[in-house]
Amino acid sequence: MLDPAGKLPKAPGMSVAQLTIDLAAVVANWRALDRAGSAETGAVVKADAYGLGIDDVGPALAKAGARHFFVAAAEEGVALRRALGPGPVIYVFSGHMAGDADVIRTAALVPLINSVDQLLCHVESLPGHPFGVQLDSGMNRLGMEPSEWAALRDLALAQKPELIMSHLACADEPKHPMNTQQLNTFLGMTQDVDVPRSLAATGGILLGPAYHFELTRPGVGLYGGLPFVDAVPVVTLDIPVIQTREVQVGESVGYGNAFVADRVTKVATIAAGYADGLIRAMGPRAALTAEGVKVPVIGRVSMDMLTVDITDVAGEPESLQMLGAHQSVDTVAEYAGTIGYEVLTSLGARYKRTYVPHT
Ligand SMILES: *Cc1c(COP(=O)(O)O)cnc(C)c1O
Repeated sequence: MLDPAGKLPKAPGMSVAQLTIDLAAVVANWRALDRAGSAETGAVVKADAYGLGIDDVGPALAKAGARHFFVAAAEEGVALRRALGPGPVIYVFSGHMAGDADVIRTAALVPLINSVDQLLCHVESLPGHPFGVQLDSGMNRLGMEPSEWAALRDLALAQKPELIMSHLACADEPKHPMNTQQLNTFLGMTQDVDVPRSLAATGGILLGPAYHFELTRPGVGLYGGLPFVDAVPVVTLDIPVIQTREVQVGESVGYGNAFVADRVTKVATIAAGYADGLIRAMGPRAALTAEGVKVPVIGRVSMDMLTVDITDVAGEPESLQMLGAHQSVDTVAEYAGTIGYEVLTSLGARYKRTYVPHT
């Protein structure tokens, strides 16, 4: 045996990046979105709470008063039920998929039924079990279309759904005509229906009360991302410096000699790369900060490392910051030509994670 005396260290040292997740900030963002209107405010915690950890984020939001949670798949609902215990409502966006009945029953999940087939499957396998209805108001992704809903409406309503919802395609662009078009379609499809309704995610909440109905479903805004411009930052990512060196004029750095020094350059090699979700495509457009001073990435992003020009930084920094007060998830997303959602859900499994509690 390699470690007969059990002497291998269990706790990580200083060699991996430190990801700090501020649960008090998540709660502050939830409360701010809750104050935007009079609707009840839910919480979308699919994809492991956008990569931040459902076991910690879920209970923090429940403690703050969230009573309606949304996940993408029934399996995620099971993990959330384990974290929350009985009580809060857990909706599943993918609805009732074949083979899910046991999981939906035992974890007391509420599938958001999106087709005739799903409705039949649900009432046959779990008669009397709560469900919601997902309508397609124009996004053409999930949900029943107006003609399908018209044919099914009386049958579905007779089974007493808990919620009727739809999703906006362009809510992050307040002036987009698609927003009012979908609102009107949703209003038409739910006219004279006495069931709580939900249309707005983060972007929809910011469009104003006409979009709120009885329940809202913010996700990214809780985690500090756009389009919630007033969000409090939630994640901080500090990456330790492994080594520094001085590179002379004409010398190159990294794979493919992608960077060539045109001045004497102090280079820091830091301990995170594309295997940690620092998207390789961001390459030399990216920057980090050292005590608030912006420092550019040079050369290519490696699997486990990045090289950074710290010539303008005094002394030897122990770590550089990728995400935090000086640089948001959306700034980093822009470096990579993507959106904050993808930066969050790509955050690496290797990071040492610390949660700032919500008290
Ligand atoms: C992901 C998702 C949300 C949350 O969206 P955000 O833009 O993150 O607030 C709400 N509703 C549905 C149907 C979703 O898929």
